[in-house]
Amino acid sequence: MAGVREWRDPSEEDRGRFDPRAIFEAGLRNHHIANTAYPIAHERTWRPYRVPRVGVASTVVRAWQGIRDLGLYVHVPFCETRCSFCEYTVTRRSEHGGAEDYVAALLGELELYEDVIGTEGRLLHGLDIGGGTPSFLPAEAIARILSSVRACFRFAPGSDISIETTPKIAASDPDKLTAYRRSGIDRISMGIQVIEPDLLRVLNREENGVGVHRRAVSNVRAAGFERLNLDLMYGFSGQSLDSWRATLEHAIGLGPEYITLYRMRYKLTRISHQAAHVTLDDVRPMAALAKEVLADAGYRASPGKTTYSRIPADVGTSSYLARRVIEGMPYLGLGLGAQSFTHTTISYNDGAAGKNLAPYLKSAREGRLPIQDLYDLPAVQMMGKMCSVSFYFGEIHLAAFAAKFGVSLDTAYPEAVAFLLREGLMEVRGAVLGLTSRGVEHKNGVHALFYAPSIQRYLLERDPERAQDMTRHRRQAARTADEELVHV
Ligand code: SF4
Repeated sequence: MAGVREWRDPSEEDRGRFDPRAIFEAGLRNHHIANTAYPIAHERTWRPYRVPRVGVASTVVRAWQGIRDLGLYVHVPFCETRCSFCEYTVTRRSEHGGAEDYVAALLGELELYEDVIGTEGRLLHGLDIGGGTPSFLPAEAIARILSSVRACFRFAPGSDISIETTPKIAASDPDKLTAYRRSGIDRISMGIQVIEPDLLRVLNREENGVGVHRRAVSNVRAAGFERLNLDLMYGFSGQSLDSWRATLEHAIGLGPEYITLYRMRYKLTRISHQAAHVTLDDVRPMAALAKEVLADAGYRASPGKTTYSRIPADVGTSSYLARRVIEGMPYLGLGLGAQSFTHTTISYNDGAAGKNLAPYLKSAREGRLPIQDLYDLPAVQMMGKMCSVSFYFGEIHLAAFAAKFGVSLDTAYPEAVAFLLREGLMEVRGAVLGLTSRGVEHKNGVHALFYAPSIQRYLLERDPERAQDMTRHRRQAARTADEELVHV
């Protein structure tokens, strides 16, 4: 019950409010990081909320008390090659030999949660298996994971199981796809990203070209999948509108039910130095073009939503993600660097910073929860996180917010909501406060208005020209972690 939910007190930095216009402009200035990934800057803004190791287990138990409905995410951190735009938790090639131990550790982590918080009576509203590349593992490993999950949890009616693959694996190993379908997986998500050969080379994805996409999709269909999502990316330095149009048309030609668009985020990637060359004036026409081309082909999305669906009344994402976005539903993340979210806490598993297997496997050997950072957060941070994730669909569900926090959105954010309505950036549409088309163009500024004060201060003080937190090599950068909403 939201009315009796207890959050810790906010730090000094999380009290007070800033002028909405100043925050809006700071979000636009910092458009590479002010997005649905909540730019928490752990060391600066969340340090007061970090739970000392000795208190981790008891805080986890308390945080999960009373939560019946949740989603589950399983992370597989292996990829055949590393894409140069990748910001995800993926191990080095030299750690591929640890895959078998890793699966054993994952299953051990699930058992630990069964013991520590109890899984009986809890209801799963979706399972996403992401990465990395989950299909890197043998099909039997995925089947083992699924059967262990089913032994622990009941699935709610209407929930689904979704898995990610690369085109290369889907094209070359159709038996894996058939095995997935047989083991009850409903949905496949596959990264196409771009098709231009020069860009594929820069991105280190030459082996995932158009011919491979066609074979992959044909295998996905032959295996019996009726729900296929393709991920596309824009916002690369030097990516022309023509090249982007060609990518969109190619993806449409493959006939997926859903297409998800990702704007390149740069942070912590091998090509983060390119961020300075990509401005809002570069990316806005690309987003507008995508909307137009996809709409012409029958794919629909509400303003600001990044997943387009050609199936009426189907939001297009997995049920795990949809429930997170719409309701802020708690989720348990298993595996290297995985994030978990309750009503009052957010945690990151071992490997979130270093992206290496050793600490995670060590925790598994020692029989303890593999949590690297656990934060016991005040309501103002949990609200910021929920609203940021809501913008994945371009709108905040008013009743869901009120049910979760026991306060209406406009009571929690009076100046911000008034500013957004006055400026025509958002509007009330039935049950939601949604982005307008002007709001979509300025969404980085809009997102920032819902961040907690300490994070807004971080944006106000951050000079995008000089900021170091886009690069991969600093401790601060490694801890400027954020949401890995979905892998691409
Ligand atoms: S972008 Fe995806 S496929 Fe590429 S390295 Fe990262 S996790 Fe692997």
